[in-house]
Amino acid sequence: MAEFQKPRGTRDFAPEEMARRRFVEANMRRTAELFGFGEVMTPTFESTELFVARSGEGIIDELYAFEDKGSRKISLRPELTASVMRFYVNEMQNLPKPVKIFYFGNCFRYERPQAGRYREFWQFGAELIGAPSIESDAEVIALALATLKNLGLKDVVVRIGHLSILNKFIRDLKISDNAEKEARRLIDKRNFEDLRSMLDGANANDEAIARLIELVSLDGDEAIRRAKEEAGNNEGFGYLANLLERLRAYGFDNCQLDFGVARGLDYYTGMVFEIDAPSLGAEKQVCGGGAYTLADLFGGQEVNSTGYAFGFDRIMLALEKSGVTVPSQNLSVYILPIGDEAKITAIQILSELRNAGISADMDLMGRNMSKAMKYANSIGVTKTILIGDNELAENSVTVRDMRSGVQEKYPISDILRAFFKNIP
Ligand code: AMP
Repeated sequence: MAEFQKPRGTRDFAPEEMARRRFVEANMRRTAELFGFGEVMTPTFESTELFVARSGEGIIDELYAFEDKGSRKISLRPELTASVMRFYVNEMQNLPKPVKIFYFGNCFRYERPQAGRYREFWQFGAELIGAPSIESDAEVIALALATLKNLGLKDVVVRIGHLSILNKFIRDLKISDNAEKEARRLIDKRNFEDLRSMLDGANANDEAIARLIELVSLDGDEAIRRAKEEAGNNEGFGYLANLLERLRAYGFDNCQLDFGVARGLDYYTGMVFEIDAPSLGAEKQVCGGGAYTLADLFGGQEVNSTGYAFGFDRIMLALEKSGVTVPSQNLSVYILPIGDEAKITAIQILSELRNAGISADMDLMGRNMSKAMKYANSIGVTKTILIGDNELAENSVTVRDMRSGVQEKYPISDILRAFFKNIP
């Protein structure tokens, strides 16, 4: 019979990889909690209508959508903001504001798989709901940046824009709604060549095309200079200059302005931002977010929110590319008993170590000394404990430090001293 294979675009995660993922997840969770955000969990599937309400009919092509046995239209979630805001409308509207929540969960999109793009992937995201101020936007971006800083991921580019700026320049083109949508899509993709020919074809005003393309191509200090220069003409420019000042106060001075961040969805209201890890090549965007209103679309009261989602899998890839060490296993000790009698002693020591909070394993394969050492090295334990006839005769064990190769004998009754030097 043919072997079964995992579905296209999905992955299996071996124990070492899971250990790395859990380590990173715990680190991200800790940062969110330091910022006063609390975790929520929502269902893996929702009514298809919810995602259509958030993103429009076009989203259906991307969804794992099906009818359940009760003929309800259901979809696996392609992201979590819609679920979190539905939850907010259902149960959290009366909570004191702001509501600060974060989440971690798997998402499903029917896309063409490639490096960094999967059909099942994970998002770690945060939403700050109900505090319509520049400080909330700053707090949310600062949380995203602190998360990356605490993970040790330095090689990132943070781009912040404001939709009121982009929208004004797009309105000046005087083109149809559909052409505006297409313009946003091409700006989002930074495909300025196709943008220019599309706008030429849509009979947009030449001068407005030139102004738009100049604006979305600006970056670095040029963009900041332009924002300051035009602060009086458009609320977005002034807002961004003030936002950068706040982010500097948080200790983050690595943010660029980019007036071409479009985010592609209608419910964003003002500030929008994206974070790239350039080492990832084509699929380099590791985070996207901004200020939005969504609760009203879901039948709740209108409320200003700011949020983002990290592509967790891309963060893992970026950490690996940048050479950041993420521990891949937790096993500290490997015990090798030689002979039957030693096995009982090995089990007793194994239990004593585990009870003391030290992760430990013993040989279950009947390996000889040289094979056992090779194995212990390959799994990266820090210490190996050898128990042979000589050791048993002396009621002791030999503890080998795998890094230095130094071997020391310890009485069995005092084995914990090999791990906790300060035991009185
Ligand atoms: P979005 O909800 O589309 O703004 O996506 C937020 C983040 O999720 C992106 O910046 C990516 O890092 C990540 N992401 C989106 N789609 C995928 C995918 N198919 N595979 C892996 N990561 C993804």
